[in-house]
Amino acid sequence: MNRYDAVVVGGGPNGLVAANRLADAGWSVLILEAQPTVGGAVRTDTDVHPDFVHDTFSAFYPLAAVSPAIQSLELERFGLRWAHAPAVVGHPQPDGNWAILHRDREITARLLDEQHPGDGQAWLDLCSIWDAIGDRLVEALLSPFPPVRGGLRTLLRLPRAGGLSFVRDLMTPALQLGAARFGGPSPRLLIAGNAAHSDIPLDAPLSGFMGFLLAMLAQTVGYPVPEGGAGELSQALARRFTSSGGEVRTSTEVTRIEVEAGRATAVLTADGERVEVSRAVIADVTAPQLYGGLVSGQHLPDRTLRAMRSFQLDPATVKVDWALDGPVPWRSAPPYPPGTLHISDSVGQMTEALSQVTSGTIPASPFLLAGQMTTADPTRSPAGTESMWAYTHVPQEVRRDAGGDEVRGVWDRDDCERFADRMQQRIEELAPGLGSHILSRRVLGPRELESRDANLLGGAINGGTSQLHQELVFRPIPGFGRAETPVKGLYLGSASAHPGGAVHGAPGMNAARAALAHARVGRLTFWR
Ligand SMILES: Cc1cc2nc3c(=O)[nH]c(=O)nc-3n(C[C@H](O)[C@H](O)[C@H](O)COP(=O)(O)OP(=O)(O)OC[C@H]3O[C@@H](n4cnc5c(N)ncnc54)[C@H](O)[C@@H]3O)c2cc1C
Repeated sequence: MNRYDAVVVGGGPNGLVAANRLADAGWSVLILEAQPTVGGAVRTDTDVHPDFVHDTFSAFYPLAAVSPAIQSLELERFGLRWAHAPAVVGHPQPDGNWAILHRDREITARLLDEQHPGDGQAWLDLCSIWDAIGDRLVEALLSPFPPVRGGLRTLLRLPRAGGLSFVRDLMTPALQLGAARFGGPSPRLLIAGNAAHSDIPLDAPLSGFMGFLLAMLAQTVGYPVPEGGAGELSQALARRFTSSGGEVRTSTEVTRIEVEAGRATAVLTADGERVEVSRAVIADVTAPQLYGGLVSGQHLPDRTLRAMRSFQLDPATVKVDWALDGPVPWRSAPPYPPGTLHISDSVGQMTEALSQVTSGTIPASPFLLAGQMTTADPTRSPAGTESMWAYTHVPQEVRRDAGGDEVRGVWDRDDCERFADRMQQRIEELAPGLGSHILSRRVLGPRELESRDANLLGGAINGGTSQLHQELVFRPIPGFGRAETPVKGLYLGSASAHPGGAVHGAPGMNAARAALAHARVGRLTFWR
């Protein structure tokens, strides 16, 4: 068959969620995926070492755990099982202390209190605010813009969360939020480190919200990982889709979306095939790839093309994977082994590294996000070993290297390996002898990331910056904030759309819902 109700371009988590929703509604749906397997940035491989499973890109999924879009698909029925590390997040400090976020809030509070009396209660107070409003915030965040129902429900709960002072806290940069609430360094590191999962500078608005959101998700649902590897999440999505009659074609790149009389009518593939579409094309590609790329500029209003000229990518990324023949030899053992790690000497150093990236400088002491995957899920590598990774951000356009100009910023093999040495050295300072445990190492620079997933433009991992000027109604360009595009029947369903990056499936679900709603309206119009 070469005509479908809907074609989904790209089988990342958002494309897979959209495809599932449309297939559930009885539509005939085809996913066209450029890579040999679906999953986008949620995939697993054994390329680092044959006995080790590594997540090629993303690894931990707190937002999937609370996402109504993903939860509604009941993926556990399709083989998905979640695993958790004993502690969610750990931040080793140069003095040997650890900031530990344990899934049990009482344990987190006790550990923080031991380091700085009073911080335990302050942490529990923050948790109480989350208890009062967290579920409503998540609902509002992950629903289509404007979040009318979720927004109203959040407003109703606001008094319980502290009213206007809570709103002010959310607007406060992570740097100040941590300092205002806590006396010791550990909880400040936990707030700042979680905020630093996005590309919002720690002294900018919205970073406090990110820090609060992710720290409280870590505290309440943990940072779960799919048992067997991140790719198991994608495979469960794919199995669910095909079991509802959906079709997937991999190794099939879409090169053009045809538009006739302002409506998307077909897609063309790199091998010359033309697939007709009767109802919707869902684009799980980035906004720059869609507007003026897959859809020719002649079909788009000038204001879209103009706005796209100032579309801002998020920073580039360098990721390193290691197969270790033993556990990470931390200089001082953490009280509970964490799955996710934040590596930086202090909040100040973290702030500096993030602002360097924003201003075109490769940090001398990059902030690392790292994972001990066998600690989180023992199936990842043989008993007693560790499947580990770390990634960090580097500028999209490099002006200089604060580490002595040894990295030029062209990200060829030489640059990548030198920079990976710098990243490894950061961990080795806290875990002396790490190098002697390495069985093999893989370095994925910006180019390698993009070659494995075209959405990772220049090594950007979130389909565009998460900074305030490109969020909500400004995502991906001012005036949108929704999945609908200027072309009828074409919906943007990737991380470039509201609410942006991370694995929660909301852009995909929003796109599918918009397509279904328009189809319903279209039917009504027909009968009138
Ligand atoms: C290194 C890294 C670490 C991350 N860590 C985390 C994490 O721990 N937790 C988390 O929640 N998020 C994490 N993220 C972010 C998260 O993975 C992304 O936000 C998410 O995958 C976006 O989903 P998507 O479906 O929009 O796009 P993608 O996952 O990028 O999928 C897009 C798909 O479209 C395909 N495609 C693109 N163009 C075409 C075309 N023309 N024709 C056909 N197919 C096409 C691609 O091959 C790809 O399969 C990470 C990302 C990276 C890169």
